[in-house]
Amino acid sequence: MKYAQHISELVGGTPLVRLTSVTAGLTATVLAKVEYLNPGGSVKDRIALRMIEAAEASGELQPGGTIVEPTSGNTGVGLALVAQRKGYRCIFVCPDKVSQDKRDVLRAYGAEVVVTPTAVPPDHPDSYYSVSDRITRETPGAWKPNQYANVNGPASHYASTGPEIWADTDGRITHLVTGVGTGGTITGTGRYLHDASADRPAADGGRVVVVGADPAGSVYSGGDGRPYLVEGVGEDFWPTAYDPAVPDEILAVSDADSFAMTRRLAREEGLLVGGSCGMAVEATLRHARALQDADPDAAARAVYVVILPDGGRGYLSKIFNDSWMRSYGFLAAGEGASVGDVLR
Ligand code: PMP
Repeated sequence: MKYAQHISELVGGTPLVRLTSVTAGLTATVLAKVEYLNPGGSVKDRIALRMIEAAEASGELQPGGTIVEPTSGNTGVGLALVAQRKGYRCIFVCPDKVSQDKRDVLRAYGAEVVVTPTAVPPDHPDSYYSVSDRITRETPGAWKPNQYANVNGPASHYASTGPEIWADTDGRITHLVTGVGTGGTITGTGRYLHDASADRPAADGGRVVVVGADPAGSVYSGGDGRPYLVEGVGEDFWPTAYDPAVPDEILAVSDADSFAMTRRLAREEGLLVGGSCGMAVEATLRHARALQDADPDAAARAVYVVILPDGGRGYLSKIFNDSWMRSYGFLAAGEGASVGDVLR
């Protein structure tokens, strides 16, 4: 019989799938790494497992302890999954821009959720960073994984995501594209792929090019931290989980373009994924297009891997809702489903 002892043992080992429709006109191979197939539905299961195991090993997390974390939802699900098995209590702090669906998921796993305003600076007492610090101080046995500074975030990607991509592409990946939130994914995965390809001859693709995708307005692409609607990526400060030496390039993508591509991925590729996935795919296609214009031979040999961090079910009332999209001007009048479509 083949079975796991607990769902948390099934983290990682996600597949690559080729994108074939949104890539029309491009000669490069574009492969998506489908992280929603992790048991908690996102890439964050990877860091949750490693952060908890490391805290147990170091004694920072003791039996019966409480895990307190500011999280947009996905890290919370990963932590809640692992915590359940081990008997820890979880308290998560989310900014109010995070959808109700996502908060409800955390509560369903048995976690407590505290909601804070999005539109305050990080050092404000009501910011989600400040509130989670206060709860950690005031709760006995509390441990804050702090995904923004925890070295086990990037380390989990160095140990799992990077080697999986290298093995599944037979060492032929030429470009990695991933969104940047805490920076853990790009730092760990990018560093592994740089190391793995360091001595690869130019004829075989040379050193892997690591491309970060960032919401326009976020600090990584030179913005001042002004708000954007895509969730889970971009920052208004520089987390230490992010090593700015790893990305070779950073591309900024608007909310409108991120969401339009997110909807195309569902309709054209059968991939119901979140907004940061649309953002990363949009950046991938732009990069591949520019390469094709500059160096058609290199583009024809290029193998892009783009990481799709989570699934789309947490965004049904936003990105996949035509009224919500119209209210922000992301869908022009006449685009999307109309009442007439439904009646026909
Ligand atoms: N997309 C989503 C939906 C996320 O929740 C996250 C994590 N914040 C990311 C992308 C970015 O990953 P990382 O924190 O590793 O940069």
